This record gives sequence, C-alpha cells and structure tokens, in this order.
Amino acid sequence: MNYINKIKNNEVLDVVTKANKITKKNHSNTVTLERAILISWWCEKGDCSFCYMATEKKRINDPKKAKRKVYGILAEVELCTRLGWNIEFLSAGYNSFSTEEIKNISKKIYEITKKGTWLNVGISNELKEYGEEIIGITGSVEVANLELHTSICPSKPLEDISNMLNVAKDLGFKKAITIILGLGESLEDINYLIKYIKEHDIDRIIFYSLNPHKGTKFGESSPPSSLYYSWVVSTIRINFPKIEIICGTWIDNLANIGILILSGANGITKFPLFKMFGTKYGKRTEEEIKWTGKELQGTFTDKSKLGKEKSEYDPNYDKYIKRYIKESLNDKY
Ligand code: SF4
Repeated sequence: MNYINKIKNNEVLDVVTKANKITKKNHSNTVTLERAILISWWCEKGDCSFCYMATEKKRINDPKKAKRKVYGILAEVELCTRLGWNIEFLSAGYNSFSTEEIKNISKKIYEITKKGTWLNVGISNELKEYGEEIIGITGSVEVANLELHTSICPSKPLEDISNMLNVAKDLGFKKAITIILGLGESLEDINYLIKYIKEHDIDRIIFYSLNPHKGTKFGESSPPSSLYYSWVVSTIRINFPKIEIICGTWIDNLANIGILILSGANGITKFPLFKMFGTKYGKRTEEEIKWTGKELQGTFTDKSKLGKEKSEYDPNYDKYIKRYIKESLNDKY
C-alpha cells in the first residue's frame, strides 16, 4: 500500500471508517479508561531523549526518595477499581524496584483487581520469577524505526526488548509494546511496526503522542496531528483486527479521543486522573466517548463511585485513599 499517496489523497477518513468496522466486528462496544501506575520517579538509564527523566530539573536523583510508598500505590489501585478504571500497567524507571518487590506489589494488586497486572518496568532477565499476578510484559519500543530507536533510547537496545518479549511469550505471558508518535518517524515506518507486531506476536499496543518536555531535545517540538495519529492507529487496526489498542492523549488534546476510538482504540490513557476527575475535562472525555456510539467502562465524573475514605482491603491504605478522594473532589480547574 502506498501510504503517502493515500494521505495525500485525503483518504484518512476512509481508513478510519474501515478500521471502525473491523473494530466493531472483533471487539466489544466498550471503551476502557486505563491508568498507568507509576511506582518510581527514578531511572537508572535516564537518557531517552524525550523523557522528563532525562532533564536534570525533573529527575529525582536519589532512587530511595523517588520510590513511591507501596501503600499509596495500592490505595491508588483500589480507587481506580472503584471508579471502573483498568490498571494499564505498573510503570517504573530501570532498577527502581527489585523483581521481588514488583512481584509482591502485583500480588497485592491481584487481591484488589482480581486480574493479573501488566508490567512496564524495563528490560528484565527475571521474568520467570513472576506468576499469575502478572498477565503481560510491555516492551518500550517507543519509536518504530531501529536507527531512531538507537539514537533516542541509547541504553535500552531494541534487540534486548525483543528478546525479553520472546521470553515472555515462551513463559506464557501476553506481550505489549509502547510507541510514541512524533519522534521523527516517517510514514514508511508503519511497515516496520507492522512487521515487528507480527514477528513478536504482540497482543497489545499502546500509542502515545509526543508530549514535548521542556529541557529535552523535543522540548520545542509539536505533537503529531490528530489525523496522522488516527491514520497510524487505523492502519494497525486494519492489519491486526484482534489486537488490543490503547491510545494516550493529553489533557490539552482531548479532542483526539473521539477519532482515536473510531480508529480502533479499545482504551484511552495518559490522564491526570485525580486532577481531571469530576471537572469539565473529565466530562469532556466522557462526551468524546459518547459521540463515538461506544460505552464507557467506569467513570470520570460520578463522585458517588469514589466511595468511603476507608480501604476495603487494608487500613494502611486509608490515609492515601483519603488524600486521593480529597484531591479528586478539589476544584482544580
Ligand atoms: S528508560 Fe524509561 S524512564 Fe528511563 S529514561 Fe528511558 S523512557 Fe525515561
């Protein structure tokens, strides 16, 4: 397929329409809200050129101080579950938590969500340590172009990510990849991405659009256009009718949501949950989904779902649950 000519001929909407038909045939009518649970603000690598951890200002240099309190992490999971949100994955920089610690946190999450957790905690040689508390492993491919990947993420070679995904498959875990659009990839790189998904039998793909962080190489870049983003997502949906697609969009780009869902997204992510909850931005997110004709799993607005300030699982979570509920009810915007 000559993708460039298709885009030049304004056929993006045709591709979106085709993708939507395929999604309807192969997936439920529900759209999920996905919450990535960040467990540490430190990364041993700290050199991916788009990442806020690559800026001195934002990075917390003491790994111990950067680790979140486990009770706080679990309280966040409990609150997400009350609101009907999925846990997208546990996310951490390299070597911030040990495998044993991640396993223990995931076991506790399992008690709350009754589901295995996805991990996005870097390249690991210790996947065999995990059991039913983990459903899948995420490889941060980030950019669908080997040359660009090498220069943008110098310390996490694609080869090592690919090997980890192969091991994950052998061990019976699901496999996901993350892709950020707007890092300098070209339209032809979609072919590389399609090949990569096939070769590694990827079950889930999570797209983000570039969020230009000040102080990074991409600080002055513009995020990709909504139609380009939707073209990429639609093309992946058309090529992989069954794959699960999650799309990240930022609070300043909420208008992307509708078209991304019509392009094949099963879930949306990358929101500041407690800040946006119950605000006009939360309402707008729900409106975007409503106008696609799909149903939202969970809520961004129903305050009654926040529930009590006490945990149903462990009193040690209480003070964090109280804090998160307060944050959700505060008038932030
Ligand atoms: S490995 Fe992840 S957390 Fe670490 S610098 Fe790269 S993108 Fe950021």
